[in-house]
Amino acid sequence: MRRPTLLLHICCAPCSTHVISLLAVRFDLAGLFHNPNIHPGAEYALRRGEAARFCRGRGIPLLCTAYRPGDWFSTVRGREGDPEGGVRCALCIRMRLDETARAAALGGFDCFGTTLTVSPHKDAGLINVIGAEAARRHGVRFLAADFKKGDGYAASCRMSRLHGLYRQRYCGCIYSAMGGGGARGASAVLFLQETAHVAHRVEDVRRDVDPRPRQAGEGEAVARTGVDLDDPLP
Ligand code: SF4
Repeated sequence: MRRPTLLLHICCAPCSTHVISLLAVRFDLAGLFHNPNIHPGAEYALRRGEAARFCRGRGIPLLCTAYRPGDWFSTVRGREGDPEGGVRCALCIRMRLDETARAAALGGFDCFGTTLTVSPHKDAGLINVIGAEAARRHGVRFLAADFKKGDGYAASCRMSRLHGLYRQRYCGCIYSAMGGGGARGASAVLFLQETAHVAHRVEDVRRDVDPRPRQAGEGEAVARTGVDLDDPLP
């Protein structure tokens, strides 16, 4: 009998470990890395590269969208000062799950899901509502879940250590980094200096990333923040 297919939105490699282990028993999986919320560009490249490395090891294809942080800034405009878990996060999650639902429908997958609920910082109830709405919009089923249950988060931490995966210190966007990622109250410039810790691993992931020319409109983010969020790999 044919196994159902599932397109899994992967927010980062560590969160994907436990979820992939669970879902691979039941589904034929493909991953989707669509995370324009991650800043700066080097951090994005690192997380994407690690996700690609882990998926490759599990024999799972990983689809990656182009990195367009300008689209993300447009989506959350006006909610920059929201606390983590507020409206900005709901908009951010909706943007990512909507694209996953669209890709799942286009690709003929039976359903889609997300790794996001592994995190103890994420409200699974809210994510499942957002996923169900995206499913209705695109006519494809959503796999509602709370992967942190049953010690899921601890399992993901164990597996990440086992595989030597990079674990980020903040959710993803520059606001989360400046608010709670070890750079509280710092300027964006200081934040970028603090993220220099990722530079030594960029070489490891360079082969997984296809640098592309800057797209029209992406300069907006630079103008608004004074920070180049889409800097090419060094
Ligand atoms: S804190 Fe995380 S979920 Fe919330 S807006 Fe930033 S990247 Fe998105």
